[in-house]
Amino acid sequence: MRQSHFYSPTLREVPADADAKSHQLLLRAGFIRQNVSGIYSFLPLGKRVLRKIETIVREEMDGIGSQEVLMPALQPSELWEESGRWHTYGPELMRMNDRHDRTFALGATHEELITSLVRDEVKSYKKLPMVLYQIQTKYRDEKRPRFGLLRGREFIMKDAYSFDADQEGLDNSYNNMFNAYKNVFSRCGLNFRAVLADSGAMGGKDTHEFMVLADIGEDTIAYSSGSEFAANVEMAPVKINYSKMDTALQNKEIVQTENIKSINEVTEYLDVSASECIKSLLWIADDQPVLVLVRGDHEINDIKVKNVLSSQVIELATEEQTREILGCEVGFIGPIMIPDQVRVIADNAVQFIVNGVCGANERDKHFINVNPERDFQVEFYEDLRFITEGDPSPDGKGNIVFAKGIEVGHVFKLGTRYSESMNAQFLDKNGKSSSIIMGSYGIGVSRTLAAVVEQMHDENGILWPSTLTPFDLHLICVNPKKDDQSALGERLYDQLKTDRWDVLYDDRKERAGVKFTDADLIGIPIQIIIGKRADEEIVEVKNRQTGNKAEVSVSDLKQFLSNLQTEIR
Ligand code: ATP
Ligand code: MG
Repeated sequence: MRQSHFYSPTLREVPADADAKSHQLLLRAGFIRQNVSGIYSFLPLGKRVLRKIETIVREEMDGIGSQEVLMPALQPSELWEESGRWHTYGPELMRMNDRHDRTFALGATHEELITSLVRDEVKSYKKLPMVLYQIQTKYRDEKRPRFGLLRGREFIMKDAYSFDADQEGLDNSYNNMFNAYKNVFSRCGLNFRAVLADSGAMGGKDTHEFMVLADIGEDTIAYSSGSEFAANVEMAPVKINYSKMDTALQNKEIVQTENIKSINEVTEYLDVSASECIKSLLWIADDQPVLVLVRGDHEINDIKVKNVLSSQVIELATEEQTREILGCEVGFIGPIMIPDQVRVIADNAVQFIVNGVCGANERDKHFINVNPERDFQVEFYEDLRFITEGDPSPDGKGNIVFAKGIEVGHVFKLGTRYSESMNAQFLDKNGKSSSIIMGSYGIGVSRTLAAVVEQMHDENGILWPSTLTPFDLHLICVNPKKDDQSALGERLYDQLKTDRWDVLYDDRKERAGVKFTDADLIGIPIQIIIGKRADEEIVEVKNRQTGNKAEVSVSDLKQFLSNLQTEIR
């Protein structure tokens, strides 16, 4: 492609409203343009990368026997009524009427549509398992579209749906998809983690999110420095790895702590460490007061509390409720001598506290030298806290590190959520009718493109991995007004194309500085620069990823390029 006729308008200035690096770079380098908030056009460079991602996705989907379909974006509201989501999906679902006043939605996802397709045609276990996928435009009227392609209102998704006769079949489809997703994101050159999104141990359905590690990410993930373990911070189980201090138990004493309420104040005033304090918080779990204890240096994880109590709703007690139930201010509550109707539960670490400190359920008073079991009882010890950085990994390998993540993919075991409500039945081996067991799997294709840029760039521009680069080579003629340079440029351009390289040829009559800046900004991994030594048949080859440059004679170029290709990411 000749750059002189190529539609890749670069911008010198960073657009003011673009916060994400990927958003800035994709706009500046001419890959995308915004049409309205959250809605973008892909220009030729962007479209090329998009197609490469789609090709990788297709290869991996086809590789596990998944079949490509294409469903409409425009979906009749009747289907969403059947599943119940017409009323529950909320304002993210874009709705409209046709000229006959029939209501439609623009597909935010396709569970309803695919279930309606399959239920009418797949009637026997003999057809199962079956996996269908599509790469298609999705619409979600996001409350805060932002960060360019990372959160759009119109975006490209690969969505797949599996159909199985039994749970084992679903497990199998899920695992296949999980592995295919790992392949997709590895081939895109991404540093990612498959994150357990709803812990199986807590009885949730299996679901993993594929998270690209990047500071702009909206989720915090906890992953291991020594294994593949990764989980959403809320979900990560904490491994019991505490020990009791080997000191004699002291007698419990009450001490005056005027206006000393927070853990920080207590540690300073009583000269103890936070890990010696017992932090007590009163929660209301479905109308039942529950005192939850954690170590002073730990934070209570309300999701874990809610799960162990099997509650519908839990809320921190208000100041007023606390005073009513415990007869004391929030800053001074503790587990000793509390009313019978209050349940007391504690995080595992509390059990190991020796001669600790806790509130005395009396204004301006704390107990010191408190020892669990001797001085207070708890109903049970459980994992009730947030994992922290430096904790041992739950699988025993390595330590926990936190990172921000961008969700690029999501695999989810639906079970019979849609097949039941939409009546998708099949006849099993014994001629009995049952609901098809489904899974749903999504990849944000356009979000993945931005996530790659988020991870792979430097101060000069994008650093495309070889698998996704819009062109293989950027051939740059420094000064096309010089005959020897333009003649060599034309010759090499033809030669390289003949050798099956995909080449962007900068034949523009621009200043050299502009060309170099643009080339670095666009980020094609290999640049071939035709300059002053064109008459000697010598060009410069630059590795955009490392910045390394070498002078190469034209006769050696073919060999040099094939060597270099193996070096780049
Ligand atoms: P998020 O929590 O980021 O809103 P989601 O849970 O709504 O994501 P899913 O419904 O699981 O996402 O959709 C599948 C995939 O589609 C996501 O993993 C993500 O990569 C992509 N995706 C979702 N919403 C958007 C969006 N607004 N813009 C771009 N990609 C998106
Ligand atoms: Mg969402």
